[in-house]
Amino acid sequence: MTSTLTHFVDGKNVSGTSGRFSDVDNSATGEVITQVPLASADEMNAAIASAKAAFPAWAATSPLRRARVMFNFKALMEANIDELADIVVAEHGKVHSDAKGSISRGIEIVEFACGIPHLLKGAFNDDVAAGIDMHSMRQPLGVVAGITPFNFPAMVPMWMFPIAVACGNTFILKPSEKDPSLANRMAELLIEAGLPEGVLNVVHGDKIAVDTILDNPDIAAISFVGSTGIAEYIYARGTANGKRVQALGGAKNHMVIMPDADMDMAADALMGAAYGSAGERCMAISVAVAVGDAGDKLMERMVPLAQALKTGPGMDETSEMGPVITAEHAAKVKGYIDAGEKEGADLLVDGRTYTAPQGYEGGHFVGATIFDNVTTDMSIYKEEIFGPVLSVVRTDSFDTAIDMVNDHEYGNGTAIFTRDGDSARTFASKAQIGMVGINVPIPVPLAFHSFGGWKRSLFGDLHMHGPEGVQFFTKLKTVTSRWPTGIRTGAEFSMPVLK
Ligand code: NAD
Repeated sequence: MTSTLTHFVDGKNVSGTSGRFSDVDNSATGEVITQVPLASADEMNAAIASAKAAFPAWAATSPLRRARVMFNFKALMEANIDELADIVVAEHGKVHSDAKGSISRGIEIVEFACGIPHLLKGAFNDDVAAGIDMHSMRQPLGVVAGITPFNFPAMVPMWMFPIAVACGNTFILKPSEKDPSLANRMAELLIEAGLPEGVLNVVHGDKIAVDTILDNPDIAAISFVGSTGIAEYIYARGTANGKRVQALGGAKNHMVIMPDADMDMAADALMGAAYGSAGERCMAISVAVAVGDAGDKLMERMVPLAQALKTGPGMDETSEMGPVITAEHAAKVKGYIDAGEKEGADLLVDGRTYTAPQGYEGGHFVGATIFDNVTTDMSIYKEEIFGPVLSVVRTDSFDTAIDMVNDHEYGNGTAIFTRDGDSARTFASKAQIGMVGINVPIPVPLAFHSFGGWKRSLFGDLHMHGPEGVQFFTKLKTVTSRWPTGIRTGAEFSMPVLK
């Protein structure tokens, strides 16, 4: 049965009135389960007006009270995590344990936001000059917006709104229209946690909704995560309209495997990093750069592991990898496998041959795929596939491996597997990449550090969550004060300097 989703504005479910809807299907069966409304500009502007009206009272609410809402929200998310993960599995397709893990990583940002009274503390100096004190404070920006991708329908929104809201802003969330339902559920739980109406609003939609956010003068800042082309567009149009923007884009993450690496450990790590969430992670490893004889040692382990990978519906506890998001995306990923074959790479494991279990024939499945002897001019090397396709590049030189990492247009994450401290240290220092792992395949920073890539993986200056998240969602004010103490200096016409 198909349900119809609503927007969530001012603490209430609000039916879409634009007359435009988009189908959301169950990725494992292909069956349409939900219709998501696509907001008109008027609907989006009305939600922004609600958020604007809610701002003064929320900004004036003590940070301690705001933190208490976050404590309640954390408890509610934990209490409901299985049901929330079910929603992610149905609409996104990832396996249940992975869906739960991604929600837990989001909850960690809520835990970080619980410390907001401490995080917002300014600095104070007394007597910077005779009788003069100076202090700084961080104040909220106003109405801010988050525009999020399909691949983490819980975690990526939680990179943004817990910190934004804890800082005293009001928030418009525009989730991916491909798996939109979780956003409504989180908004309901926030109201249950004590968040005042209008502080967090969920408005579903497509380009019309996004462009309205970009152009509405009441939006002070935009946090975006998605593909690079759209990230660049959001950054350009948002900043041209005077907004603060952080726009995280796509990735092609390389894992360098040195000949001295623990090969069993490297192969296990590569399996999880290449095929976890069907490769639909911005930190997935899609390129393995094998140095020297690491290539043969790695391939003799990887090929049987990839062939044995259990692909199936996310609700089946034995599945290790689920389907990709849509039928179109499955076709696109298979198109890349066709292209890699044509371009001359060695197809060692072919995910196109996968057959779905009975009852799941309509699911968007692609099996694990490995290409060996990939070269840097091939499309499967250059472009983000965002599916379970691993490209293995071989080289004899560590320096060439580093050059590959650095010459690629994306700069989100990278990893090196080695037992040699020197190589690891050199790699960490030279990689032109935002997040580096040493014998850690997916080096996603924890909530109290900040997440973000370099090069065409991030447009803007500040990374997500952690200290940079607090900086992004606040503006700094510095106050200089003097009280009458009987000191009279008379009018001063030259720049005051300390004598
Ligand atoms: P996407 O760019 O298609 O969509 C992201 C958001 O932008 C959605 O909310 C969508 O509705 C909106 N959007 C899409 N087209 C638009 C347009 N023409 N104008 C305005 N808005 C538009 O991305 P996706 O397919 O949902 O997600 C996958 C991408 O996200 C991958 O490239 C992946 O690498 C990237 N991603 C990056 C990170 C990171 O941290 N760098 C994290 C997760 C995902």
